[in-house]
Amino acid sequence: MEIRKGIAVSPGVAIAPAIVLDSEQFRIPRRSIEPTNVDAEVARFQGAVERAQAELRDLRVRVTSDVGEKLGAIFDVQDALLTDPRLLQEVRELIQREHYAPEYAVTQILKGYARKFLVLPNRYMSERVSDVYDVEKRLLRNLIGAKRESLGTLTEPVIVIAHDLTPSQTASLDRSKILAFATDIGGRTSHTTIVARAMGIPAVVALKTITAELSGGDMVIVDGHRGIVVINPDEATISRFREADNRFRRMEIELGDLKDLPAVTLDGHVVRLWGNIEFPHEVETCLARGASGIGLYRTEFLYLDRDEEPSEEDHFQAYAEAIEAAKGLPITIRTCDLGADKFTHLSGDYDERNPFLGCRSIRFSLQHIGSFKTQMRAILRASALGTVRIMFPLITNLKELRQAKMLLADVREDLEEEGVLFDPDIKVGIMIEVPSAAIMARHFARECDFFSIGTNDLTQYTLAVDRSNERVAALYTPGHPAVLRLIRGVVEAALETGVEVAVCGEMAGEPMYALILLGLGVQVFSVSPATLLEIKKVIRSVTMDQAREVCEKVFQFDSDREVDAYLSEVTRRILPELIT
Ligand code: PEP
Ligand code: MG
Repeated sequence: MEIRKGIAVSPGVAIAPAIVLDSEQFRIPRRSIEPTNVDAEVARFQGAVERAQAELRDLRVRVTSDVGEKLGAIFDVQDALLTDPRLLQEVRELIQREHYAPEYAVTQILKGYARKFLVLPNRYMSERVSDVYDVEKRLLRNLIGAKRESLGTLTEPVIVIAHDLTPSQTASLDRSKILAFATDIGGRTSHTTIVARAMGIPAVVALKTITAELSGGDMVIVDGHRGIVVINPDEATISRFREADNRFRRMEIELGDLKDLPAVTLDGHVVRLWGNIEFPHEVETCLARGASGIGLYRTEFLYLDRDEEPSEEDHFQAYAEAIEAAKGLPITIRTCDLGADKFTHLSGDYDERNPFLGCRSIRFSLQHIGSFKTQMRAILRASALGTVRIMFPLITNLKELRQAKMLLADVREDLEEEGVLFDPDIKVGIMIEVPSAAIMARHFARECDFFSIGTNDLTQYTLAVDRSNERVAALYTPGHPAVLRLIRGVVEAALETGVEVAVCGEMAGEPMYALILLGLGVQVFSVSPATLLEIKKVIRSVTMDQAREVCEKVFQFDSDREVDAYLSEVTRRILPELIT
């Protein structure tokens, strides 16, 4: 039994056999062969090795002629692996002795090699682990060929182990078969983890080498509360984790009692507690968990699971579905936030060196005016069906807001001319998620109806820490005094100018940070459906004076370490039952 620690990103505990996807999405289950087929399977393996060796030779010749002998030599390590008689014999033995299918035998042996490379003290040698993965992939490609299995063909519940999953891959996971996932890379607020939380799939990310350490069929525990993955657990450990999960479920049931109660502090201060969604069907989950509106609808997910750009009708249908489910409650539709870690065929044309600083979000929309207007037409048309607000993401300067509003005005004019109904008083808001917008909040307040602070991005851009990079995850915290000061500035500007202020980043869904946001005077908390009830509990457990005191104290600290330590101590004191 081995225990690995990563970042907990989506709560819940799951215990099941693993399926390991490599970056090419091979699924390698533990499969046995008939003893009578051993010779044929060994020959199949031998054929795959020969084809892989030939491919590598060709590749080397091509690279050498294109870019020179020196770079051609980078294939030496792979060549040495593919021709190593000991390695090949080890695979053959697993097929002959254990009757493993060659695919499984290959992953078993090469994972063993990867592990040995990983622990080498010499950095050059430890980095050669990527060559081991490449050889594994090359062999698997040759063994599996066109018969690749997909996640769509699962028959038993499993836990997915992958180097990484894209947000759209995560969104398409079959919840009834995939009990949890764990990945090598990723961060606390990457979009993959946001989707996992929305779907209620327990997940742990940033485990660095988990794909190398597990093979298909290995039993695993994924503990999405504490960020732990246990490989091949013993019975006692399994029952310990089951008990922890039961405690979590009991707490969930108790929190369920709060569903219909107002989000009001002990001294009567009312806040609005809204939900964040990626798909229209999530509105129902939000309402069932007591949300009184939708503060963020991430519409870019409409683009992520299709090969073609969504039409005006596709947009309209999705919004109409969400609005109908919302039963008159407000829905804040954010215009498309593509780019960075959310790719589509549209953004795929651009190979950007720094995609988070590149043509993402509103910048992307303003460079694709046709698509942008199509989406706004659909939002406006949908506004005739319920209470709709429109929100522009990643605004960094006033010009962008003015351009976006001008395009919106064009679309309104077109609709008026065509006699199409829409809400003429539709509210227009912006996300404050870069420091320039936070600093200039007072100026933005004159030109929009509401702010929604996107702390996921605001944190990454203030601290220069990629939100999805596990190597710098320890530096990523909204508890950094600089982030807190920017938020305070925005809230003050909003309260003084009478513009509504919400927080829709993951920060609003973390009990200890919710306390500060409350103390600062944030009016709308928009959180993932999974955390709605927890945040309601926080709000209902304190007075505004208490929350303000916490704030005052927090702003005396000059390091995130002190802020986070103090906040977790206070939260534990006020709400001992929430800490798992
Ligand atoms: C944010 O940045 O905080 C936010 C809510 O937007 P997203 O997570 O979709 O980037
Ligand atoms: Mg954002």
